[in-house]
Amino acid sequence: MKKAPLKRQEIWKRLGVTPRGIDREIVEIMHRTHMGVDQDYRHILLQTMRCALADGWGGSMISTDLQDIMFGTPVPVLGSINLGVLKEDHVNVIVHGHEPLLPEMLVVAIRDPEIKALTEKSGAVGINLAGMCCSANEVLMRHGIPCAGNFLQQELALVTGAVELMTVDVQCQMQGLQSVAECFHTKLISTSDRAKIEGAEHIEFHPENGLDTAKRILRMAVENYPNRRHNVYIPSYSQDMVAGFSHETINYLLGGIFRASYKPLNENIINGRIRGVAGVVGCNNIRMPHDVGHITMIKELIKNDVIVLTTGCAAMACGKAGLLTPEAAREFSGSGLAEVCEAVGIPPVLHMGSCVDNSRILIAATAMVKEGGLGDDISDLPAAGAAPEWMSEKAIAIGQYFVGSGVFTVFGTTWPTLGSDKVTGHLFNDYKELHKGMWAFEPDPVKAAHLMIEHIDSKRKALGLDKARERVLFDMAMRRAMA
Ligand code: SF4
Repeated sequence: MKKAPLKRQEIWKRLGVTPRGIDREIVEIMHRTHMGVDQDYRHILLQTMRCALADGWGGSMISTDLQDIMFGTPVPVLGSINLGVLKEDHVNVIVHGHEPLLPEMLVVAIRDPEIKALTEKSGAVGINLAGMCCSANEVLMRHGIPCAGNFLQQELALVTGAVELMTVDVQCQMQGLQSVAECFHTKLISTSDRAKIEGAEHIEFHPENGLDTAKRILRMAVENYPNRRHNVYIPSYSQDMVAGFSHETINYLLGGIFRASYKPLNENIINGRIRGVAGVVGCNNIRMPHDVGHITMIKELIKNDVIVLTTGCAAMACGKAGLLTPEAAREFSGSGLAEVCEAVGIPPVLHMGSCVDNSRILIAATAMVKEGGLGDDISDLPAAGAAPEWMSEKAIAIGQYFVGSGVFTVFGTTWPTLGSDKVTGHLFNDYKELHKGMWAFEPDPVKAAHLMIEHIDSKRKALGLDKARERVLFDMAMRRAMA
């Protein structure tokens, strides 16, 4: 929690929402929502905030930090995405889910001489490892492993008839996966001790013998290659993209190796070339055409000079639409944003990782505050957040910790409290005073983008940036005082 700006920490303290422990806050909210316990919606919602903050500034952030320590902090990497990354003459193995340990081991095991020899014997040219959902983001960010697709493409990947084996662990695995796999020769392997799927083979992954498990899984995939039937169809669509924009990388790209800083970003927001920053994250949702919410919203934002930070399935949607290439700046952005992106050599939409990496966005926002010139809290920044196609329950927790960090956050598709004017009014209006960040619901992605732009403009006005004038950036002494 101490990584947050001081003013934000004070707000949490005043409201009594500073988390006391990650598990403790989860258990506490489960008890409070049990029949007959907490009966004041405002009081329950304060605990949801404490629980969500424990997720964003605790669980997710620790997880991202530990992964960076174990597997390396991501740096920009060229990758490709869409079902066209599958290869007809290769053994195709898809890693699907969220945990990075098995995918990391598969990347190592694929180079094993014994596995290579076995693959050669099977008649395949090689093993083609591809990712799905956030496992894909993890191995893309660190190894450039291709992504077969995001949430709504998991069954479609199997329908190509070209996938020998798919591993799954936790979260976002569709209930129909095994039934689809049975229509083809695909082996579905569940690997987490927390989740089994009826009909799927279960090979539990434990780090202490992780490499052996990875080799066993690859052997099964290779041995399954001759069972492939003749009904193979791989769509030819795939798109190059650049991913791997961790907070550290953005810092370096903007400031250089000796003076890594967010100063150029802040300066370009102050001089108006960049209007503001938006975090657009989250799932696919079957209530809306695949990826349309993300792409429509993000194109509208960058057209209006708002730079976009993205994670999860939203990031993969951007990859497929060609928004994660430096060339996209000229093609899709407003002239101010395009100028900055071309000068630095970055896309107008920065892929920051998987859903757990939303904490990287919090750290980037904090770095902007600490750099100076844009207020002294995240709520002062010309910034907004959105999840236009959210679906998973954890998206609500993620949205809540963004709101609790001072970010105006818009969700699309559906909103769970519309049955209560009181609760909805509290989240959409009272939160502005209480947390200096609030929720909004707007299913139309263009209208939602304009709600975000209006908010960004109101913050620019509050900072005096609607008038053309020079602002003083903080010097070292002023920054130390804020740290
Ligand atoms: S963004 Fe949503 S759908 Fe996609 S992997 Fe994460 S939780 Fe699942």
